[in-house]
Amino acid sequence: MRRILASLLVLGLLAPAPAVAHDSENIAVARRIVFPKLQDGRSVLAVDLHTHSVFSDGSVWPDVRVEEAKRDGLFALAVSEHLEYQPKAADIPHPDRNRSFAIASQAAIVKPDATGANKAPLLVVNGSEITKLAIQPGHMNAVFISDANAMLPKAGLNPVDAAREQLKTANAQGGFTFWNHPYWTSQTPNGIATLDPVHADFIKKGLLHGIEVVNGADMSDEAFRIALDNNLTILGTSDIHGLIDWDYDLANGGHRTATLVLTASETEAGVKSALRAGDTVAIYNDNLIGKKANVEAVVRATLKMEIGEAVPRSTVQGVSIINESPVDYLIENLGPNDAYDEGHVFTVKSGSTFTLLMKNVPDPAKLALNFKVLNAYVAPREYLTLQLRDVTP
Ligand SMILES: [Zn+2]
Ligand SMILES: [Zn+2]
Repeated sequence: MRRILASLLVLGLLAPAPAVAHDSENIAVARRIVFPKLQDGRSVLAVDLHTHSVFSDGSVWPDVRVEEAKRDGLFALAVSEHLEYQPKAADIPHPDRNRSFAIASQAAIVKPDATGANKAPLLVVNGSEITKLAIQPGHMNAVFISDANAMLPKAGLNPVDAAREQLKTANAQGGFTFWNHPYWTSQTPNGIATLDPVHADFIKKGLLHGIEVVNGADMSDEAFRIALDNNLTILGTSDIHGLIDWDYDLANGGHRTATLVLTASETEAGVKSALRAGDTVAIYNDNLIGKKANVEAVVRATLKMEIGEAVPRSTVQGVSIINESPVDYLIENLGPNDAYDEGHVFTVKSGSTFTLLMKNVPDPAKLALNFKVLNAYVAPREYLTLQLRDVTP
């Protein structure tokens, strides 16, 4: 612990960078959603599977989506234009519905002279948003599809039958599908997501694999409950139409809404199979939301405790809590030991070490603290709890 503090002190003294450059550099680093590997060796990859461009109702050319995704440290980005909603078609006619994907894919190619975020590779995924106005069946995304044109609705079918056919097409293309913003007030005036017979049937038939528990700035406990009860993959997406920089407070450590994919393979196939297996955590406003095993794996890989030194002639023991994740952790100490110099609730900032003194620790090797992580949800209104011990060998 002392070594960490000493090196921080040295860095602080030796690197008085100009304030402006230093800040923008810090923002560029802080906005990246990059997690270390899990203890079992799997990677944690950030993906955003719901975005728009001018090829439906978004405000930007698809290459802007790519640039943002690279700046945010994403592994994969899906372009998912509305199939049935084309408000810009008069200005931007595009009979080929794969154009957005083609342009984004081209923009994602790493050029030999690339600098900064553009040096990083980005997997661009083809997708489409099935867009029915009624609650049944509302909006659903199909990603990892091979041909968006084949996803266009068949004429003469009612919205439910048309959507079923579109989901079948997506599945036949090997796609991954999910229910978008199931609580959206345009379709659900009370804001409460409810599993209706149409979606229940899609799920039962294996046509619908996931659900947005978070869409942009909105989170739904009811969607979270539907996900857990029906074993649907939990997703967070930006559904960005304007600019990520407009919608998120990146300058103050914010991150875009996204999905963390826990995968053994940093490949398209690896991401797809983890999505199919439900190995995801939604990241939203510095909250982690998911099935317990997934949230716990991510937090365990990034939140650690080290024993420091005791206050002389006392059993008051210094400990360091280390946060190696890009999000701040809000922690409630459940004991059994209380802190001497802190309350029960404290924040361990992203990428930092928080030191505190614990009372009545006669044998530091046996110290085990039970923490509730107040921004890690394993069920609606239910937080992750975990026990931390010293990690140093
Ligand atoms: Zn939508
Ligand atoms: Zn959308």
